[in-house]
Amino acid sequence: MKTPCIAKCKNQDGICSGCFRTMAEITEWRDMDEVKQCNTIEEIQGKRSTHTCSLCGKPAFCDISAGKSTCWCFEIEKRDTSGIESPDCLCRECLSKLPLLSNKRAID
Ligand SMILES: [Zn+2]
Repeated sequence: MKTPCIAKCKNQDGICSGCFRTMAEITEWRDMDEVKQCNTIEEIQGKRSTHTCSLCGKPAFCDISAGKSTCWCFEIEKRDTSGIESPDCLCRECLSKLPLLSNKRAID
């Protein structure tokens, strides 16, 4: 079975900090067919992209831009993107590094 897992899996509020799959993707992984697995790996690694991330400039993939009704970013804990002026989504790596929105509320 193909997997992007690098044996450093850690659930970082809904997204793996090692392979950048969402927890939903990790759960569904074994039930995905090989085409879907390959596509997902390529999206994570930036081989398939819809735009570039406005923070790091690397390729990013938005499922909505690709014509789907939901996006991987809906599945993770909401991050605080208030300081980022970009209409496009960030890449998985940048988005997962942002502080959680709920944490910020708790501090305020
Ligand atoms: Zn990025």
